[in-house]
Amino acid sequence: MQQEKIWLSSPHMGGTEQKYVNEAFDTNWVAPLGPNVNNFETDLENYLTQDVFVGALSSGTAALHLGLILLDVKPGDEVICQSMTFSASANPIAYLGATPVFIDSEMETWNMCPIALEKAIKDRISKGKNPKAIIPVHLYGMPAKMDEIKAIANQYQIPILEDSAEALGSTYKNQKCGTFGDISVLSFNGNKIITTSGGGAMVTHTKELKDKAVFLSTQARDNAPHYQHSEIGYNYRMSNICAGIGRGQMEVLDKHVNLRRANHQFYCEIFSKINDVKLLTEPNSDFYSNHWLSAILLQSYEQREALRLAFETENIETRPLWKPMHLQPVFQNAPYYGEKVSENLFEKGLCLPSGSNLTDSDRARVLNVIENFFKL
Ligand SMILES: *Cc1c(COP(=O)(O)O)cnc(C)c1O
Repeated sequence: MQQEKIWLSSPHMGGTEQKYVNEAFDTNWVAPLGPNVNNFETDLENYLTQDVFVGALSSGTAALHLGLILLDVKPGDEVICQSMTFSASANPIAYLGATPVFIDSEMETWNMCPIALEKAIKDRISKGKNPKAIIPVHLYGMPAKMDEIKAIANQYQIPILEDSAEALGSTYKNQKCGTFGDISVLSFNGNKIITTSGGGAMVTHTKELKDKAVFLSTQARDNAPHYQHSEIGYNYRMSNICAGIGRGQMEVLDKHVNLRRANHQFYCEIFSKINDVKLLTEPNSDFYSNHWLSAILLQSYEQREALRLAFETENIETRPLWKPMHLQPVFQNAPYYGEKVSENLFEKGLCLPSGSNLTDSDRARVLNVIENFFKL
């Protein structure tokens, strides 16, 4: 008989979520607005500190789309984006008829390489194209090299749209991820560190910008008794039911970060004994990852596949790293700057079970596969 499936990262309720959802039912706030939405936003603002404003939206993808609109990205514009990421970082560029310009990773954090970034900006400017925005990503919760990236962005006066979908709870130089961008984005999809089933948020540094995002996310209705529109709107606001789940999840966010970091420590101890394997780990104490997913680099594509299949046989889910966007058929014509770092990571990398709800017996099964595979 097959054992129960161990997931890469599955929803983990804290216990109070249903109370907030019931409140929404009891008061009939079953709508894309209401007290849970407002309170969830306040909870996030208090958590992130840095005097930010948070607008709760229907998804991280919606937040990225509205973020690009607020940064005035238009058809024909170019937007710089980390290549090694989930497709949702780049798709909204295409929604707007703009062109993504993809940037390779560096080996320390696996995120946007500042050297390749500067090369790209110089080259695009020399071709008469001033990039409209830069989208760095904190992959698997690992903060990108934000000092270097921000210095370049400032030098060339290009705004940053920070994709912090995987990094709520991570910090860089003691500042929370999700507060570094001119605009930042969070996701509460089912597999993220906290979830609202589906949902996302935009983080801004002015109330005006947040209000503009909320305005666009609720069909851009002008201030009139009838329905009047001077701009194209979207139906991107978070529902009060989902926000109720989010309020409950905020109560366990710190706990979830600690549990995911404990999973990473578990993998640290195993792989410190295996020379063939490199675990993605903070390069120094400036970086503090929520370790949303623990990920390793093996010696070859063949070894990576063999290990993935060994886990699959035991009904344990693992996943290759994100396939870089510049290698995706849909983006094959987009410009790319860098070497083969992200390609190499994709070939040899594997994400391991990392949920905050992993049990001791789950970890024992995972350990068993690794021990058998490496003949420890
Ligand atoms: C999950 C994710 C998104 C998209 O968020 P959704 O809420 O699923 O739309 C964007 N970027 C990255 C890096 C993600 O991991």
